[in-house]
Amino acid sequence: MTPADKHADYDLTTLAARAGEEARPNASVPLVEPIYQSTVYAFADLDALDGAMSGAEPAAFYYRNGTPNAATLERALAVLEGTEATLVAASGMAAISAAFLGVLKTGDHVVTDARVYGVTYALLAEEFPRLGIEVSFVDACDLSEVEAALRPNTKIVHVESLTNPLLTVPDVPALAKLAHNHGALLSVDNTFASPAVFRPALHGADLITHSVSKYLSGHSTAFGGVLCASAELVALARTRLLRLGGTMSAFDAWMTMQGLKTLGLRMRAHSGNAQAVADVLVNHPRVKAVYHPGLSDHPQFHLAMDLYPHGFGGMLAADIEDAPAFVKALAGRIPLAPSLADVITTLSWPWGTSHRALPEAERQRLGITPGLLRISVGIEDIEDLLGDFETALD
Ligand SMILES: *Cc1c(COP(=O)(O)O)cnc(C)c1O
Repeated sequence: MTPADKHADYDLTTLAARAGEEARPNASVPLVEPIYQSTVYAFADLDALDGAMSGAEPAAFYYRNGTPNAATLERALAVLEGTEATLVAASGMAAISAAFLGVLKTGDHVVTDARVYGVTYALLAEEFPRLGIEVSFVDACDLSEVEAALRPNTKIVHVESLTNPLLTVPDVPALAKLAHNHGALLSVDNTFASPAVFRPALHGADLITHSVSKYLSGHSTAFGGVLCASAELVALARTRLLRLGGTMSAFDAWMTMQGLKTLGLRMRAHSGNAQAVADVLVNHPRVKAVYHPGLSDHPQFHLAMDLYPHGFGGMLAADIEDAPAFVKALAGRIPLAPSLADVITTLSWPWGTSHRALPEAERQRLGITPGLLRISVGIEDIEDLLGDFETALD
C-alpha cells in the first residue's frame, strides 16, 4: 500500500487539495510550539463550533480573531507585566490605537506627555481631534501641570515610562493616583523599559502598551504590539482592534516568543552595558551632555533609582561635539539605524528621524540638538564596546 492507495478513487485535483495532512504525528508533540499558518480551523461538529463562536470554549476559528501563537504570546506577556489580560496587535501603534479607542468616545479628553513617541503624538494631535476627542499636551514630569490639565471629561493620562530620546522618568505611581482621583486611567507605553526593568501595573497603571518590535522580541526580526490591562479593558480594545483589522501575524507572535525567552538575560546585559557607556561618555571632553537615568545629574535620578532597582535597559542619549565624524568613525562596527533594542548596539539621530517633523526651535527647546545621538546599547562584551566608542571619539 502506498500513500496514494488510501485516496484511490479521487482525481488528482482532489488529491492535490487534500493529501498530506493525515501524516501529522500524534504520538509526540513539538517541544516548541509550531507556527499556526492556518487562516481557519476545523471543528468536529456543530456543538464544538458553537462553543468556539460563543466564546464558551476557547478555540481558534479564524485568523483575524487570533491565532494559537498570538494566544501563547498573550499569556506570556500577561505573566510578565502582571496584568489580568493582554492583547497582541500588528504593531505597537495598533496596540496603542486599540487601547485608546477601547476607552474613548467623542467628547472625551486625553492628557498626554508632550515627549511621547512621534507617531503616538501624531495620532493624538491629528487623528483623535477628527473624532471629536480633545487632547492636551503637558510636561508629565511636572505633576502640577498634569493636574491643571485634567478636566471632568478626561478619560486617559498617557506617558512613556522612559521617554525618547532624553530618558526622562515620569512619576508613574504619583500620576496613577492623580489620574484615579479624577476618574481617569493611567496609560503607560513601557517599550523603552520592558517588564524586566519596570512593571507599570505594580505602580497603578491601567493600560500598558509596548512595541514588541523592540526589547520584547529583541533582535529586530519580529514586528508587533501589545496592550496589557484588566480583562475588561482588554476586551474593549480587542473588539476595536479586530474590527479595524489589526491582528498580529502568527509568524511575528512566534518570533516574539523566541525572543522573549531571553528577555531577562538580555535586559541585564543591556542595563549594565548602558550604565558603563554612560559613565565613560559623561567624562569625555568631546561629549557635551549625556542623558541616562543612572547618572547623578539626571533630573529624576532619585525617583529613577527608586522605581528601577534593576537598571534602566539599554537606552541613552549623548550630545557629541562632532556627531557626523563620530558616526562615520563608528561605521562598520556600530550601525546608524533608526530603531532600537537590538542585541547589537545601534545609533539613531533624533534631529533627522524621530523628531524631524517638529519645528527647529521646538526641537532645540526639548534638548534635541543636531549633535544628539541616541544610543541603543547592545549586549556585546563591554570592553569591546567601550573600546569602539573611545576610538571613535579620539
Ligand atoms: C517603536 C515605538 C512605538 C511604535 O511601535 P511600532 O511597533 O513601530 O508600531 C511606540 N512607542 C515607542 C516608545 C516606540 O519605541
